Amino acid sequence: MKKKKIYEGKTKKLYECEDEAELVQEFKDDAVASSKAKSHSVKGKGALNCQISAQVFRFLDSYHIPNHFIRELSDKEMLVKKLAMIPVVVMVRNVAAGSLVKRYGIAEGRELECPIIEYYLKDDERDDPMINEDHIISFGHATSEEIKEMHRMASKINAVLRAFFRRRDLKLVDIRLEFGRLHGKILLADELSLNTCRIQDLQHMDHGILDGDNKHIQDLLYEIRDRIFLS
Ligand code: ATP
Repeated sequence: MKKKKIYEGKTKKLYECEDEAELVQEFKDDAVASSKAKSHSVKGKGALNCQISAQVFRFLDSYHIPNHFIRELSDKEMLVKKLAMIPVVVMVRNVAAGSLVKRYGIAEGRELECPIIEYYLKDDERDDPMINEDHIISFGHATSEEIKEMHRMASKINAVLRAFFRRRDLKLVDIRLEFGRLHGKILLADELSLNTCRIQDLQHMDHGILDGDNKHIQDLLYEIRDRIFLS
């Protein structure tokens, strides 16, 4: 089914398929906190994140949130719809962490009054700078209508996933989303896993906020995966 490798990023490889409208997304074991961080491998992490991502995409399907997931192909590969990607990361924050803490001096772990939606340009050279709607429109990355649609979808995805995680004793701290276009429609793409979601384990609050590169998450990966698979 896989043909030529067309892209290798920090956490995934993309392959063309027989059907030009589809891609194979293969999850790597590499763990990276940011584009400048040194990469290291955690055995089995690719497979776990692929399985978690597939489960979360299936869950979003049940809420009619359009996304690129078609089906799993192996423990670390999934078949997806090929999209024209919008080079913007849409970040939704529920709890203060990471750059929000550094930039604004808000205490880490503080519950935000309401979710904050931010946009970042996907640009490794410049460490994904934060941008606003005017930048996105002026630079030609998306139209005003498309930004409204991404914002609407991001809010809904966050609301649905917060409840999904909460039922599993996990708090969704923040989530990084990527979108693409297909036949004039906006679809959720990329992955929804511990690479892109920060979480807090309500059963192990002493571990603090967990992101993909946090040492505690490596001990908890399998336990968290099992909880995500609870129906
Ligand atoms: P970043 O971590 O900033 O996203 P990266 O390029 O290293 O950077 P990876 O997740 O390793 O990220 O690579 C996956 C790439 O595949 C990303 O560039 C993402 O935009 C792209 N992508 C995800 N889903 C699709 C899709 N359905 N069609 C086309 N490209 C996609």
